[in-house]
Amino acid sequence: MHVSELHDTYDRKIDYLRLSITDRCNLRCRYCMPEEGVAAKPHTNMMSYEEIIAFSHMAAQAGITRIRLTGGEPLVRKGVVDLVSSLSDIKEIQEVSMTTNGILLEKYAVDLWKAGLKRVNISIDSLDPKIYKDLTRWGKLEDALAGMEAALKVGMNPVKVNVVALKGASDNIEPFAQLTMDYPVHVRFIEYMPAFYEEEKDDFISAEELEAKIKALGSIENPDSPVGAGPARYFKIAGSKGTLGLIGSSKGHFCNSCNRLRLTADGKLRTCLFSDQEIDLLPALRGGHPKDLMELIEKAIKEKPKDRFAKREGKIGRKMSQIGG
Ligand code: SAM
Ligand code: SF4
Ligand code: SF4
Repeated sequence: MHVSELHDTYDRKIDYLRLSITDRCNLRCRYCMPEEGVAAKPHTNMMSYEEIIAFSHMAAQAGITRIRLTGGEPLVRKGVVDLVSSLSDIKEIQEVSMTTNGILLEKYAVDLWKAGLKRVNISIDSLDPKIYKDLTRWGKLEDALAGMEAALKVGMNPVKVNVVALKGASDNIEPFAQLTMDYPVHVRFIEYMPAFYEEEKDDFISAEELEAKIKALGSIENPDSPVGAGPARYFKIAGSKGTLGLIGSSKGHFCNSCNRLRLTADGKLRTCLFSDQEIDLLPALRGGHPKDLMELIEKAIKEKPKDRFAKREGKIGRKMSQIGG
């Protein structure tokens, strides 16, 4: 089978896959998961690593060149280092990355690096240990920061720090600005998306408010964007090692340049973060012909909506922890 480059109906080149490998997590961020966690799906409904790897080979044939592992928390799934290694070995895959809360990253950073993980996004919503613990319900900020330092130490680049913007927590941007003075990290403030979880709705802060706060820091330059900048806009404080960025998801959600597909841990291909359209891959992976799987991938790309964000109504059927962001 030859490698193709797949464009959707709106001529967007689809080359990026977000792969959720578990919906379990070692934290319970208030805006993402209830304290009791999400109801665990039967083991047999979840994709095995063999199935994830088989799918990824096929997706690579369809034009996917970059894969991001996410969750739930990807580092709680046993064998994740071997998975990174197998995905990195796929000839067409130029980059394997991960979005993690960083709690277990200190433990795995060296092995992940050797397995081929060259860059990582770490979610840290506050640099105040008490607020961090409150937001995550029991997380220790020092563990997440140790994960960030370990990623930098092994040479991962870029290391990005994702911050969901919430009033009274991450809107205190000075400590994050200081983080970019001390470390070569790219902090990205992401607008909270209440469509996935109502609890923190009143704590929403817009990207515009955050931009004003960043500009008020003074000595702001517009730097070159780091690798994989995607939809973020970046700023830099003069003399800093890293950058500050903004991802505003409430207005339009960058649909014109959307290049991605998402695969849930239970084998459902989602065409858009804000659409509940899902294509079940498990039957094709379990006993189907490779051609069936390719047809489903092509169908997902063909049916990817133009701008579902503007048209969505009501809540999304899955929680963010079941999609992976
Ligand atoms: N557990 C990993 C982590 O926290 O980085 C990966 C999965 S998590 C679902 C992926 C990203 O989604 C995180 O950066 C998280 O902050 C973000 N997220 C979760 N719920 C969100 C929401 N309602 N609005 C905006 N971002 C959200
Ligand atoms: Fe877990 Fe990530 Fe959701 Fe926080 S945002 S509860 S770390 S999946
Ligand atoms: Fe892509 Fe859907 Fe997000 Fe638009 S709303 S950027 S189409 S995932």
